[in-house]
Amino acid sequence: MTTTKTADVDGTLAQVYALAGAGADIVRITCNEVEAAEGLAEITPRSPVPIIADIHYQYRLALAAMEAGVQGLRLNPGNIRKEDHIKTVAREAKDRGLPIRVGVNAGSLDKTLMEKYGSAVPEALVESAQIEIRYLQEVDFDDIKISVKHSNVPLMVESYRLLADTIDYPLHLGVTEAGPPPGGLIKSTAGIATLLNEGIGDTIRYSLTADPVEEAKAGRQLLESLGLRERKGLDLIACPSCGRAEVDVIEVATNAQKALEEANLPIQVAVMGCVVNGPGEAREADIGIAAGRGRGHLFIKGQVVRVVPEDEMVEALLDEAQKLVDEGLEARLAHAEANAAEIAAEERRQLIEIQGDANRNAERKAKVAEVAGQD
Ligand code: SF4
Repeated sequence: MTTTKTADVDGTLAQVYALAGAGADIVRITCNEVEAAEGLAEITPRSPVPIIADIHYQYRLALAAMEAGVQGLRLNPGNIRKEDHIKTVAREAKDRGLPIRVGVNAGSLDKTLMEKYGSAVPEALVESAQIEIRYLQEVDFDDIKISVKHSNVPLMVESYRLLADTIDYPLHLGVTEAGPPPGGLIKSTAGIATLLNEGIGDTIRYSLTADPVEEAKAGRQLLESLGLRERKGLDLIACPSCGRAEVDVIEVATNAQKALEEANLPIQVAVMGCVVNGPGEAREADIGIAAGRGRGHLFIKGQVVRVVPEDEMVEALLDEAQKLVDEGLEARLAHAEANAAEIAAEERRQLIEIQGDANRNAERKAKVAEVAGQD
């Protein structure tokens, strides 16, 4: 969701483009005043993604937003309460073929329901959605999606489970007012991922107190990491570092992430602190680099293709990653430096000699042979 004043057309459009670039498929924009609706009339035709107008209190602004060309509405049942207003909006949306999200929010639940239930419990949120759905259905409006957002993660999860058991419309998931990262990211992920893994949910939003681009990035990364969306961006894996690390893993990983994100490469990249365990543990990554003794071992699918000076690790990683995306796996493996694998193996052997083999492979092999040889 954008954070600009909607009347600021250029500022809002810049944010919409930034969000779309970070992975947002739909962007919500507030329509809280006439000037905002007028802004939407200029924004929607120039937007790269569908625009949803966020409507609170004033149903007329929903009508104005539709006139401005938005592709959908979010209505808050907690503050647009008059049945005839809701039905007027629904009839207009139906005529225009636009969907409506019934966006129930624990923080702005209808007063009557708060009195009935005492607090924003899952039953109250779901009943709020059901009342609104009934109004929409009474005017034969069926292009509906629902959200029942709560800032309390267990209550959010329970609300959506109850909703999924109760109604059969698409669900939009979110933990409302999750706060700034990292807490907001963790709360949102805990709620959204739990439900997605249960097969509940059709669209998602992270509600962070942060640049909205962070929301879009987080949402995209969550869907990619759950295998629910094709990877379009970088997936950087990095070891947590330990006493074996031969470089400052945090610094190398941070620099690599920045450089690779700027290059916008859709691959999995590994940054590992040592060559003793790094290439093996990250052999599934498309490409990676592990620190040897003052040098970096650059590997593709676990095979070392270049050995580079330590201060050139990030640059070499970026260069090889770009070539890998442009030329493909076979071509880059064919370009592996002739003696890279031998140099790497020798350096790894030396490090194991100095540091010891954390995996105790030789010891284990001997034990396996001993056990296998027993009657
Ligand atoms: S890859 Fe090496 S440095 Fe990184 S955590 Fe594993 S053993 Fe430690």
